[in-house]
Amino acid sequence: MAQVITDIALMQQAAAHLRAAGKRIAVVPTMGALHEGHLTLIREAAQRADTVITTVFVNPTQFGPGEDFAKYPRMPERDAALAAGAGAAYVFAPSAPAMYPQGYATFVNVERITEVLEGKSRPGHFRGVATVVLKLFAVTQPHVAVFGQKDAQQVAVIRRMIRDLHQVIELVVVPTVRESDGLAMSSRNAYLSADERAQATVLYRALEDARKLVEAGERRCDRLLDSMNGRIAGSRLAAIDYLSVADADSLEELRDVRNGQTVLISLAVRFGRTRLIDNILVEVR
Ligand code: AMP
Repeated sequence: MAQVITDIALMQQAAAHLRAAGKRIAVVPTMGALHEGHLTLIREAAQRADTVITTVFVNPTQFGPGEDFAKYPRMPERDAALAAGAGAAYVFAPSAPAMYPQGYATFVNVERITEVLEGKSRPGHFRGVATVVLKLFAVTQPHVAVFGQKDAQQVAVIRRMIRDLHQVIELVVVPTVRESDGLAMSSRNAYLSADERAQATVLYRALEDARKLVEAGERRCDRLLDSMNGRIAGSRLAAIDYLSVADADSLEELRDVRNGQTVLISLAVRFGRTRLIDNILVEVR
């Protein structure tokens, strides 16, 4: 069983002791409701460090008004057991008032790359993400931090923050773990009705369509977007928030892809009240 710590000072002491004993610490930040995607991150972390700390915190500051903060699935005992099974020695699960007490006033704002894609659809989201991740780094004192490619823009934001704020932390990114029909695993998939779940496979199909077009030599992004649009339009319950073909580093929207470039093809689509995101990286050659 993993040791579950809710107290910030206790977690900091445990991390300090581990460091003093020469242990390499990996942190895997999550919002809980752990699935195979999260567990893959924890296993990867265990390969790269002596001690894995999984954090489970549904971070209020990264949810906008009208988003699913209140109904986000919370299952702490199950999460602790799963995290331990995947190799976590500690689960850090603080309360929201402990993380953001009365008078809390400090936020991390990563500029520019937070203004597009998810940042455009969810104003303030990455301010909450960067803030909580830096706070979790301060509490868990990791040498390594493991994140999922599923949240591609989040990875870009954390990478920028680590660099800009001189964090001595190795960032490890794990490829997206998918269900057998291609749907990216997500805690939010639990919100889907049976019909929505069946139709949600269209997202990965649309991304793969675009990949195949690029591999077949298509360079015009409007054609890639048309193809994705057409595929998703075939799904009655899907409502597109955005489709994007962007440079993987700058996240700048592209008109054409060029040889040698790595492009991030990404989307956000609603099924009823559930908003799903997915992406693939394509190396153009
Ligand atoms: P979350 O609990 O959704 O905030 O996710 C916590 C971490 O798990 C983030 O780094 C996510 O990118 C990662 N993650 C979530 N779903 C997947 C997945 N299907 N495959 C790989 N990583 C994932």
